[in-house]
Amino acid sequence: MPRVPAKSSAGRSSAEKPPRPDPRALLSWYDRSRRDLPWRAAPGERADPYSVWLSEIMLQQTTVEAVKPYFHAFLARWPSVAALAAAPLEEVMKAWAGLGYYARARNLHACAQQVAFERGGIFPREEGDLLSLPGVGPYTAAAVAAIAFDAPCVAVDGNVERVVARLFAIDRPIREAKRDLREQAQTLLPAARSGDFTQALMDLGATVCTPRAPRCDLCPLAPACAAALRGETERFPVKAQKLDKPLRRGAAFVVTSGGAALLRTRPPRGLLGGMSEFPSTPFRVDFDPSRARAHAPMAARWKELPGAVEHVFTHFSLRLTIFAATLPAPPPYIENGRWTPLARLSEEGLPTLMRKVAIRAGLIVE
Ligand code: SF4
Repeated sequence: MPRVPAKSSAGRSSAEKPPRPDPRALLSWYDRSRRDLPWRAAPGERADPYSVWLSEIMLQQTTVEAVKPYFHAFLARWPSVAALAAAPLEEVMKAWAGLGYYARARNLHACAQQVAFERGGIFPREEGDLLSLPGVGPYTAAAVAAIAFDAPCVAVDGNVERVVARLFAIDRPIREAKRDLREQAQTLLPAARSGDFTQALMDLGATVCTPRAPRCDLCPLAPACAAALRGETERFPVKAQKLDKPLRRGAAFVVTSGGAALLRTRPPRGLLGGMSEFPSTPFRVDFDPSRARAHAPMAARWKELPGAVEHVFTHFSLRLTIFAATLPAPPPYIENGRWTPLARLSEEGLPTLMRKVAIRAGLIVE
């Protein structure tokens, strides 16, 4: 039986080489269909580098919807990079609480101080210079350079990777093809409007070229999309083999006395660095919950609460056993500890994991 080349909705066969994607078509689509985001400049206006940088740091590993309230709150409280640089780190960390990946908040503050105190409050325009700032990696440098300064570069986030993988039918999982994807994206760049182009690719990935059921009928790049022309949009990006996250365990100790709870501050570096916590053990794969009491911050009648707290970090899952105790009077001194009135726990800027612990212990309501 003769083999028939696959037909796409556009009626082309997979044997035909797709034409080059037309960046002008994408820009026209963007002018009609761009998302209205609080950190974006209005059409024809220049973007504010501070807003672009702030939003891009917040958007690392975080959704647009989760970022919006934090972006508004930060901008209202610290409307310029100089204001953010002058703020105490502790206040910035508290304002960041709940957004996760807390190293970003420390780097955000360090970066603001570098820009404000060493660069006269002016963000560098070049991708290479931006890369030298704390917390600014290749993606963020490209995004700020392109969006704030129209530098000729494309910021390749997860949405853009998906679009490019489909456009060029890249036959490897994204994590193996990152360099290729960046290079292919760069070949699409038009001579002008780099910032709009990068945001157009992001918007296309977020609203049209979605992970499931992409709306190729609405896509300005469909005539040049290899995956669509082959009728194989769902096959791209090629799925990587799933690696299970390792499970770590640990314990947290919730002790209350006279209407206050014992908290401490985690070391500045590492997981949840600088954030408030209920005294906790290290989180380890080989942690033995039956020996957890040996890590308690003081002698007390510790009671294990039913049901562990589960939390997922980027590289591991955590199961935290919770122990609770009530003391008739607080000890006069506990190294690195402080007693926080229960009514003020919500002002402590607890990270999400510790909020879950507080909820499980009945100290705050969900
Ligand atoms: S044609 Fe379809 S698969 Fe290709 S880029 Fe557009 S939305 Fe994505």
